[in-house]
Amino acid sequence: MLDDPEGASVREKPVPARTAGNMLSEEVLDVTHYTDNLFSFRTTRTSSFRFQSGQFTMIGLMNEGRPLLRAYSVASAYYDDWLEFFSIKVPDGPLTSRLQHIKPGDQILIGPKPTGTLLLGNLRPGTRLLLLGTGTGFAPFASVLRDPETYERFDTVIVAEGCRTVGELAFAASVVEGVKNHELLGELAADKLYYYDTVTQEPYHRQGRIPDLITSGKLFDDLGLTALDLATDRVMICGNPAMLADLTQLFASRGFEEGNSGEPGDFVIEKAFVQR
Ligand SMILES: Cc1cc2nc3c(=O)[nH]c(=O)nc-3n(C[C@H](O)[C@H](O)[C@H](O)COP(=O)(O)OP(=O)(O)OC[C@H]3O[C@@H](n4cnc5c(N)ncnc54)[C@H](O)[C@@H]3O)c2cc1C
Repeated sequence: MLDDPEGASVREKPVPARTAGNMLSEEVLDVTHYTDNLFSFRTTRTSSFRFQSGQFTMIGLMNEGRPLLRAYSVASAYYDDWLEFFSIKVPDGPLTSRLQHIKPGDQILIGPKPTGTLLLGNLRPGTRLLLLGTGTGFAPFASVLRDPETYERFDTVIVAEGCRTVGELAFAASVVEGVKNHELLGELAADKLYYYDTVTQEPYHRQGRIPDLITSGKLFDDLGLTALDLATDRVMICGNPAMLADLTQLFASRGFEEGNSGEPGDFVIEKAFVQR
């Protein structure tokens, strides 16, 4: 189903079990491991859970009788009757040292109030959309790429995923492939969607950090597209702290203004994680 932004097509579930205050409890449907530090999983979706493409919410597990929660971007589409998340495995991370072992049938806590700035509505009108991510920072873009409105608003959509190793690109590659092969989205995205994958710590046909590839113009050259242009380009960024800092500086120096939910801008930013 693609025609129901309010999510009314979401599969009806029995009244959800509520745990830990207002948190929803959803059941794990499947888990996919890509590397020793990245995995994705899908859960059931209570029909009352609504979100906009690009938003994040709190998710977690019960730990010693208390909820252990972290912010996670929703990677699935607003119209899917499941929720999908793309996760890091931090070896000694309080949540992910446990979350990485979930299996179908396990329960996941989901916060009922998604939020975030990576929304199409937070960008001024433009004709080309750049989605720039590193690692799990691709997760919100999976949702944006699966939203038909993305292709209705923009003539060209470039999604770039930067990782350390080639294996870490697998989730992004599978999402892009899924969009291109989707019976309805595929047609919308066919002539518009460009995927740029790059790695920094292994040999690969595309290498380097996204900020450097934008600064030099190589990213656009490689795709056969025109150079960065404030008149046409709108940007969403989600990545590691160094990437966010470099890109914020780069776009600001080119005249791009940052947007937020109060005031649309030329680019919007979300942290992929907080350095503790
Ligand atoms: C707005 C927002 C959205 C987020 N969305 C996601 C998401 O979709 N998927 C996801 O895996 N994480 C996401 N995170 C990070 C997430 O909230 C947790 O930090 C992560 O799940 C690790 O939890 P932890 O308790 O195991 O370790 P934490 O104590 O939370 O983190 C320990 C350390 O691990 C590193 N780290 C944490 N998260 C990441 C990451 N994603 N990539 C690389 N290094 C990391 C950092 O150095 C951090 O200091 C998001 C964070 C924010 C602020």
